[in-house]
Amino acid sequence: MRLKKAGFEAYLVGGCVRDLLLGREPKDFDVATNASPEQVKQIFRNCRIIGRRFRLAHVFFGREIIEVATFRGSEPEDSEQQVVHADGRLLRDNVFGTLEQDVWRRDFTVNALYYNIRDFSVVDYTGGMQDHAAAMLRLIGNPSVRYREDPVRMLRAVRFAAKLGFSLHPDTENPIHELHPLLKSIPSARLYDEVLKLFLSGYGLQTFEMLRHYGLFGILFPDTERSLQSQQHDFPRMFLIRALENSDRRFNDGKTLTPYFLLAALLWEPLQFAVQKRLAHGENETLAYQNAANEILTRQIKITAMPRHITQSMRDVWFLQNKFSRTVGVRPYRLLEQAKFRAAFDFLQLRAETGGADPELVKWWATFQEADEETQRKMTSPPKGSNGKPRRKTNHYRSRSKPKTPQ
Ligand code: ATP
Ligand code: MG
Repeated sequence: MRLKKAGFEAYLVGGCVRDLLLGREPKDFDVATNASPEQVKQIFRNCRIIGRRFRLAHVFFGREIIEVATFRGSEPEDSEQQVVHADGRLLRDNVFGTLEQDVWRRDFTVNALYYNIRDFSVVDYTGGMQDHAAAMLRLIGNPSVRYREDPVRMLRAVRFAAKLGFSLHPDTENPIHELHPLLKSIPSARLYDEVLKLFLSGYGLQTFEMLRHYGLFGILFPDTERSLQSQQHDFPRMFLIRALENSDRRFNDGKTLTPYFLLAALLWEPLQFAVQKRLAHGENETLAYQNAANEILTRQIKITAMPRHITQSMRDVWFLQNKFSRTVGVRPYRLLEQAKFRAAFDFLQLRAETGGADPELVKWWATFQEADEETQRKMTSPPKGSNGKPRRKTNHYRSRSKPKTPQ
């Protein structure tokens, strides 16, 4: 390690040590050092300093990024470097210190194990090894104070518990039931990043259930939480569960995951509510969908700042749903050419599996995509006896998805 040669201390720390001890392949590597970010930058040409609240150096090795953090100190010598908000939130934490001080600024004991590359020893000041062996997540220090300093630690607790299969120590768990509203103070860009980690790392379903249990989900997706609570039958929940299972499976098969698909699924039911309200006020269907999408996305962006290309793709997936019911004439061919056809079709399939769309329609589209030209032509020609005019548009899924009343 080049930091060593330059006379600095360097330890592997955080998730990589925790995961290596479990025999898992770490997602990334974090390094803690006594060199300042500027000194790190002098040693590594391929290095960038990032962050304001928490200044770090990113060192690039090909496609890998190693996060190099300077030891944090506990005592602010200079109030400019550590800024605490009136609600206890740490707005800036750039007081540098020693390893002994750095330990106490970490979140969980199992994340505060320092692996010394030189002699393969693990430095453990907080009982992290013991907790690790007991599969226990425990916040370092006073949990309420630590959650107030950084409410995102509540999300991290849930994320690690789901991912590692660890349980939360009661003292770490209990305050979350009360303190979850503190998440509202977190900037939307950071919450968006956290949401991606929560739902797109292969443990989305368990994470979702846990987030709901602690009241955290309702802070992140209030409209969705409301729709889950007011549901009359089980399908909004089932639809979400299937969507999460589906993306967990894809992740574990090593396939790529696009954030917009799951986000479109998370907000689908709130969108339906908003659309129905608008239709009831006499808006036409196209306008109702567009306005409802604007309304839902505008609200959600304030909490989790999705970038524009993501919200655009969400809209595409949503707006294409109604187009699947048009199976006559040139329209099916046009739909097939849409950039988001595949995603929209997968979405339709999930809806059909949970009672929100017509399974016959899914079959029709599955056949149509694969069919030769002649079959496609037959499939899209108007039904016999319809005097040659294209059939009026019918909305298959909506007419069939109404709850069946027993006769
Ligand atoms: P992952 O497997 O997701 O990378 P990780 O534990 O490495 O998990 P990082 O976000 O990469 O998580 O952070 C690296 C380390 O920095 C953590 O293990 C922890 O020690 C410390 N850390 C990160 N975020 C916080 C936080 N909000 N509060 C306190 N310590 C934190
Ligand atoms: Mg990490």
